[in-house]
Amino acid sequence: MTIDHIAVRPGDPDYDTARTTKSGSANPSVVLRPTSPEEVAESLRYAKAEGLPVAIRNGGHNALSYGTIDDGAVIDLSHFDRVEALGEGRVRVGGGALWGPAAAELGKHGLAISSGDTISVGVGGLTQSGGFGWMVRKHGLALDNLLGAEVVTAAGDVVRASSTENADLFWALRGGAGNFGVVTAFEFQAQPVTTVHHGVIEYALENLDQLVNGWATAMRAAPDELTTTLALRPAFGPFPAAAIVFVCLAGDDTAALEPLRAIGTVVAEDIKEVAYAEVLEEGPPPQPVLPIIGNTFVESVNEPLIDAIVSAYSAGGRVVFMRYLGGEFGRVDPASTAFAHRGAEAMVISAAFMSPESTDADAEQARAVWRTIGDQGFGSYSGFLGSDTPEDIAALWPKATLDRLREVKRAWDPDNVFRRNFNIAP
Ligand SMILES: Cc1cc2nc3c(=O)[nH]c(=O)nc-3n(C[C@H](O)[C@H](O)[C@H](O)COP(=O)(O)OP(=O)(O)OC[C@H]3O[C@@H](n4cnc5c(N)ncnc54)[C@H](O)[C@@H]3O)c2cc1C
Repeated sequence: MTIDHIAVRPGDPDYDTARTTKSGSANPSVVLRPTSPEEVAESLRYAKAEGLPVAIRNGGHNALSYGTIDDGAVIDLSHFDRVEALGEGRVRVGGGALWGPAAAELGKHGLAISSGDTISVGVGGLTQSGGFGWMVRKHGLALDNLLGAEVVTAAGDVVRASSTENADLFWALRGGAGNFGVVTAFEFQAQPVTTVHHGVIEYALENLDQLVNGWATAMRAAPDELTTTLALRPAFGPFPAAAIVFVCLAGDDTAALEPLRAIGTVVAEDIKEVAYAEVLEEGPPPQPVLPIIGNTFVESVNEPLIDAIVSAYSAGGRVVFMRYLGGEFGRVDPASTAFAHRGAEAMVISAAFMSPESTDADAEQARAVWRTIGDQGFGSYSGFLGSDTPEDIAALWPKATLDRLREVKRAWDPDNVFRRNFNIAP
């Protein structure tokens, strides 16, 4: 088999688009766009024969542009975008599909998978990281709904992974951040969801400590059907500074929203019943800023954490998101998948928006502010990680999980073919 018919090389008209991800560009020797698992295997064989390191790309949203690579071979999975309903809520979704089109297709069958909030994020990248979506408290992470996967291994074999076939690989795919093979298809158990109540409640920017505390207290008593994110946003581009709770209620008992209306002075509210697929949006276009991003899980939204968050936000130029967890997310046995941070009450994500001309000292100052929040948490989420120092990677998995991931890596990818990712060295 030759790969010329699926190859885009420097000088080809499509090369500029093909070498670029959502977060940056590189100069690969070749971009390969396979259409079958066999062509993926052939692409891997070609890269090996040519001595080219590989990058695997789905939605291309990784903040470090892992989906492209200088002087290497990119395997672009965009042709693996098929979504099929298999009956009884089981669905097969291509390893190169995007969540927006996938949600729209599933919606036609009265089904949904709790995924992420953004249309163009890839099913392959998000599912192998975790997948915190708008129904995470009701249905868990995206990866908690995975039944099996079709994988092209580093050895070029096409195998199936599930709880009964290659169970070690199946465990590692669910949280191992793309280290174990090229997933060409995922099989999920989708949920019977048609519409949800989704929107925002905006509060006056006052008494922020009471607002955050009130939000956490309201969420502790909330039903699993309610998933929310509290955002403290600085003035940014066309948007004014604001304190907002984003709401998704996967059920009809709208009384569950009432406690949220009492946690601060509501200045606006816009919550509508919409098809689940309409909840996914496209993020704002990239701005000319250098974001310094941090994220961590917290056991409790307590007073010291709230003080740190409010101080960091009030100093300016920083957005803070708090995603409330618990519910089904927290009930999954931490050892049953490679995503182990199940004890978290919330995930806190914060970015400081720096000018691209900022000095290293300015960036370090922003990181120091983040640490006043981050040091109160444990671990972090690969999906929202903007750097990959050894310390960053060590925070992704508890030691026992990382040790087990290394064992699986040694079994399935001993030469570390799949290393353009948050890498688990064999
Ligand atoms: C705007 C935005 C919104 C987001 N919202 C959410 C959210 O709501 N919830 C959430 O949990 N996360 C969210 N994320 C994080 C997101 O889930 C991760 O960044 C994810 O890794 C992106 O996947 P991708 O396929 O788009 O990216 P890519 O850059 O294409 O891939 C990411 C990593 O996964 C590997 N990979 C991708 N597909 C495959 C495959 N099929 N087989 C093997 N390896 C593969 C790649 O090699 C790379 O290392 C968001 C990110 C952005 C930028």
